[in-house]
Amino acid sequence: MGPDTPLATATTTEAVAADAASRDEESAFDNSLTARHKRPGEGQDYDIGAGVSRPPALPYERQPGDPLYRPLRIYTVDPSVSRLEGSVATVNVPYEPLAPGPAGQLFAVDGVDGQLGLRYRPTDLEDRKVLMTDGYPPSPSDPRFHHQMVYAVCSNVYSTFKTALGRNLCWGFGDGKTPARLVLRAHYQRVQNAHYENGGTWGELRFGYFPASDKPTNRTMPGGYVFTCLSHDIIVHEVTHALLDGLRSHFIVPTNADVVAFHEGFADLVAIFQHFSYAEVVLAAIRRCKGSLQHASLLTELAGQFGHTTGRNGSLRSAVEQDTGHPVRYQDSLEAHQLGSVLVNAVFDAFVQVYQRRIERYVRLATGGSGLLPPGELSHDLQTILAERASKLASQFLSICIRAIDYCPPTGITFGDYLRAMVTADYDLVPDDRCDFRGALIDAFWRRDIYPRGAQHLSEDELLWERPGADLPPVPGLDFAALRFRGDPANAADLNELHRQACMLGRYITRPGRLEAFGLVANGDARLDGDTVSHPCIESIRTARRVGPSGQIVFDLVAEIIQKRHVRASAEAPAFTCYGGATVILGPTGEIRYVVLKNVASAGKLQRRRDFFKTPCGQKYWHLSGRQWQPREGIFAMVHRGE
Ligand SMILES: [Zn+2]
Repeated sequence: MGPDTPLATATTTEAVAADAASRDEESAFDNSLTARHKRPGEGQDYDIGAGVSRPPALPYERQPGDPLYRPLRIYTVDPSVSRLEGSVATVNVPYEPLAPGPAGQLFAVDGVDGQLGLRYRPTDLEDRKVLMTDGYPPSPSDPRFHHQMVYAVCSNVYSTFKTALGRNLCWGFGDGKTPARLVLRAHYQRVQNAHYENGGTWGELRFGYFPASDKPTNRTMPGGYVFTCLSHDIIVHEVTHALLDGLRSHFIVPTNADVVAFHEGFADLVAIFQHFSYAEVVLAAIRRCKGSLQHASLLTELAGQFGHTTGRNGSLRSAVEQDTGHPVRYQDSLEAHQLGSVLVNAVFDAFVQVYQRRIERYVRLATGGSGLLPPGELSHDLQTILAERASKLASQFLSICIRAIDYCPPTGITFGDYLRAMVTADYDLVPDDRCDFRGALIDAFWRRDIYPRGAQHLSEDELLWERPGADLPPVPGLDFAALRFRGDPANAADLNELHRQACMLGRYITRPGRLEAFGLVANGDARLDGDTVSHPCIESIRTARRVGPSGQIVFDLVAEIIQKRHVRASAEAPAFTCYGGATVILGPTGEIRYVVLKNVASAGKLQRRRDFFKTPCGQKYWHLSGRQWQPREGIFAMVHRGE
């Protein structure tokens, strides 16, 4: 802590600041589905999915005179970390009026303790005295602080996603009539677990609590209660599951080992990079590790208290391998979290490479050109510069990770697909990659044996998603001039407009001769070998923001198309459903910029699925119902129980 950094300053992450600055969002969203009529081909050639017909959950629209932020105190790691290491911070959460709970537009905290069956005193963040003290003071024994913390952390993660994608996000659940809210159950049950549950019409985050082991290996009372809702990382991880589910609804269908591991790895990545948004934590960590991020355990370890109190003798997971010289290699037989960790380690490794390149000159300046740091503490100025660089870079990496989701296939994601999505998303935003972010990513994935299927070389141009051929003209009705927005091009005008956009695309892709280009097939196609397919379904259509060739901001459209293939049972093998389709990215004139394909009829696909059913991972997530493979219920609870 330096003399010029006052303790009482509230942290505003860059994402929250950008979110608060976008103020011209209207709240009056026309949700009248009654006015909607069927469009040509709808229900005959193509279907419209739930993602297009659900009213979006919209954040509060700030009114003139409203404050920008609501400062609230949180634990930046968990209650077991010392305050001297920045464990308590005041964060600025985008302002919205709150009912007791707290309950806002996107999140509602449920004050019931599911184990004890009692309702705690209401948490009223609008109370005058509470407002004067930046919320309830941090305390493991005050349930009102627990409620405040889950609300504050979830709200800030939402802002991070919103800023990275340049639009409001949708939840992956809802009743189809009213905008959905994610319910946060801070005291769900006495259980060593926390998970996201999508109930179709509703969604919840469930945080368990439990007595610590007799010999916790960090600063926790033996047998004292540990609350997962007070672990910053667990909250970020769980809300990321919910946000990712809203972005890609089919990523919870475990069609290969990477799918489940991806959900886990991605949620951990967001938690790790979010650590870097707390200035005091970063500064304390940089001071301790002398600028060498691989050794900054405060930043690289996940869910410390949880791990130390459940007999692990260490944090739950880490972004850095034990032996950085010999990274853990990708193997699809690894357990979901271990496999997810390979992804986390790869991205974090790339981050560290770029960080080192960026700080070299500061270290040289500080060491008279030698680059060799003297023994003892770094100078305060150098610590501050390194901490600032690390925070800024982490926020850029997190942004790449989130934006890449728009460039992922709609189903059956593999780590190799995600690498290609990151490379393409970043290329779209920063064609001139001076710091070689993309090179560092490719390198780190290669060192862990993660190879995209279908790519011939591990070079940037080879890994960019292909652009479609010239035979695909622009999509009529989807050029920028024809789209209707609500104030900001990040939001479609209303549900009817969204429906119109989806139908224009549905019509376009089902024109004769077009199916193949979008990974789709028609019934009767010889490659189906007698199986049947469903109509292509437009699952979602959304705007995505990028920087155009001359620095201007351009809005693209991103759509997900899904097709199901009903694979028949044979004498040797049971039946199952196979998914295919495409993510389509359209430019401002309706031109098709990228098509990311997963064809239901592609060679080897059925055999890969049948092989997968036989693996321990396949057996864990699928069961036989008669002569048909069905996914098991409650996948997130199941994955997390394995921890
Ligand atoms: Zn998880």
